[in-house]
Amino acid sequence: MYRTRFAPSPTGYLHLGHAFSALTGFAAAQAQGGEFLLRIEDIDHTRCRPDFEQAIHDDLRWLGLDWPEPVLRQSEHMADYQAALERLRDMGVLYADARTRRGEAEAALSAPQGEDMAENAPAPPAWRLSLEACRRALGARYDALSFFEGADERRADPGVNGDVVLGRKDIGVAYHLCVVVDDARQGVTHVHRGHDLYDATHTQVLLQALLGLPTPVYAHHALLLDDQGRRLAKRKGSKALRDYRAEGLTAQAVRDRLLTADQG
Ligand code: GLU
Repeated sequence: MYRTRFAPSPTGYLHLGHAFSALTGFAAAQAQGGEFLLRIEDIDHTRCRPDFEQAIHDDLRWLGLDWPEPVLRQSEHMADYQAALERLRDMGVLYADARTRRGEAEAALSAPQGEDMAENAPAPPAWRLSLEACRRALGARYDALSFFEGADERRADPGVNGDVVLGRKDIGVAYHLCVVVDDARQGVTHVHRGHDLYDATHTQVLLQALLGLPTPVYAHHALLLDDQGRRLAKRKGSKALRDYRAEGLTAQAVRDRLLTADQG
């Protein structure tokens, strides 16, 4: 069955770019008689907030979307991502990276002395994926990694991202790993998302090969631009969907505007 998902992180309010990803995924699932899932990517407890999560549900419902319950919340499955990390570690494709960022090193130097030993224990390392080890583990398959962008088969080149962190020091796991585990667990056959995640696909295809998971078909849509021609992004404070709603714009007007927008 055709199954797609919209997988936002509750670190801010959804903007028009998110609405576009969600609407195109939802429309594709409907056209194929398939399923549209919502997944909450909330592994980073330092940035995610319950009110943003609630707003995701409210905004998507307002847009006219629905999805099966219960919604998968990644924070409830941390042990599964840890297990996948463990598996990769056992395969010998991860290495520990104990480097501290400059700020952390300075903070450690200026910390008050004579405190409990635990406070001075070395911080856990980050775990990185070694592309060299992956190449050894996969042999000729490494250079044949590929994925479909729509009907177009493309080579996956994980080198574009280098040795990515899969186990963050602060939360133990990381985005690429969780996405790959969940896309497989949820039987996602098609991924609709913005072009800002195109490079991520190269790493995710490699992880699928290592973990023996299927690779979905991808469709990365062009990013929407704001009135000044800048890409929409939460962190840049792009206007939230809910602000358009507050101004009286109807969901139908948003849908019309997005689905007829020039995606050049
Ligand atoms: N959670 C990611 C984000 O909000 C998207 C994940 C994905 O679509 O693969 O940027």
